[in-house]
Amino acid sequence: MHKDHLVFDLFKEELQRQRRGMELIASENFTSLQVMQGMGNVMTNKYAEGYPGKRYYAGCEVVDQTEQLAIDRLCKIFNLAYANVQPHSGAQANAAVALAVLKPGDSILGLDLSMGGHLTHGSPVNYSGKLYVAHFYGVTREEGRVDYDMLEAKAKEVKPKLIICGASAYSRDWDYERIRKSADAVGALLMADIAHPAGLIAKRLLNDPFDHCHIVTSTTHKTLRGPRGGIIMMRKDFENPFGLKDNKGNIRMMSHLLDMAVFPGIQGGPLEHIIAAKAIAFGEILSDEFTIYAKQIIQNAQSFSKALLSKGYNIVSGGTDNHLVLVDLRNKNISGKKAEQALVKADITVNKNMVPYDDKSAFITSGIRLGVQALTTRGMMENDMPFLAQAIDDVLKNVDDENNMLQVKNRVNEFMKQYPLYPELG
Ligand SMILES: *Cc1c(COP(=O)(O)O)cnc(C)c1O
Repeated sequence: MHKDHLVFDLFKEELQRQRRGMELIASENFTSLQVMQGMGNVMTNKYAEGYPGKRYYAGCEVVDQTEQLAIDRLCKIFNLAYANVQPHSGAQANAAVALAVLKPGDSILGLDLSMGGHLTHGSPVNYSGKLYVAHFYGVTREEGRVDYDMLEAKAKEVKPKLIICGASAYSRDWDYERIRKSADAVGALLMADIAHPAGLIAKRLLNDPFDHCHIVTSTTHKTLRGPRGGIIMMRKDFENPFGLKDNKGNIRMMSHLLDMAVFPGIQGGPLEHIIAAKAIAFGEILSDEFTIYAKQIIQNAQSFSKALLSKGYNIVSGGTDNHLVLVDLRNKNISGKKAEQALVKADITVNKNMVPYDDKSAFITSGIRLGVQALTTRGMMENDMPFLAQAIDDVLKNVDDENNMLQVKNRVNEFMKQYPLYPELG
């Protein structure tokens, strides 16, 4: 068989791009070499529909062990009673929870997408907005923080079956306890989607959602720094509130409904090679090294935010509690789209993002979303943050000057050489 040089050469090209660039996309990270190499393994060949010990296929004795290891390690990280490590992505994890606890036409309440929420929290272009009746809460205009009074008022008004907290572009911590009170007041279930800050929550550096939220979902590839994928978790299992019983007449536990929702509900065979890499990543998260990493992320984000503020940038909510900073560019008269396009020419990768009360569309936007978790993985510390802010400012001060972008790009590429990425790959 011929080696597919076309594709393998593109891997090399992508590695070079990742090495030379300043990666600031808040949802990305660089896995360890063992996590990455752990994905390319023989378990991709195995069908394993079902769960460890209860499969629909023969020959699952070995993949049962890797999947159980992933579950056990994840339960240890967050002190859980239940974990499902099979969702192929964060969106799949959320779809499975929705399938388990909602019927088409039920009401849900999530954070508005234009204020930091996620597509799967009720957007009209997503299953969550098509199958369910979606309502939204927002952030306050003055502070850019979740408007808990509005959340409570909306909950009382629309009586959702499910309230979703968590976000894709929100730099502040969440008051899960308060939201649970609003949920209890209307008999709603509460789900937290911690796709972004999960790695910080794993090390107890942010409020713990698990005691207050019935169900918690996450991706595994953002601050958790694992392979691309999703997970569903509960600290305490509980009897499903819909009265669903097994054939002996016993009320089913919620864990059963969630497992059934993932498979056979929305997925077929699990990606056992990816689940093996999840197990590796979870092992890394349990280490003290990851504690140091997670603390450094927050220190870096705060220094970065201060450096941007000192250059006259408006930071939504005035700062950050987690790994990300949302910049409102309206006072600089540049759209998010224009900023993203100019920055990428200088090998600075960011994404355009709507800011609260944005007057521009999702395609143009007034802001950019920046996250330091990937650069922290590469070894950057607080004292590197002024360089990042300076490089961004140099580009944005002259967004139409191609020559200037090239000069910044050269400085960025030189700077990044101090932080080798996958040196073992040559
Ligand atoms: C990234 C993200 C997801 C979706 O993850 P995918 O793996 O891309 O499907 C879900 N919810 C939130 C809040 C996210 O930030």
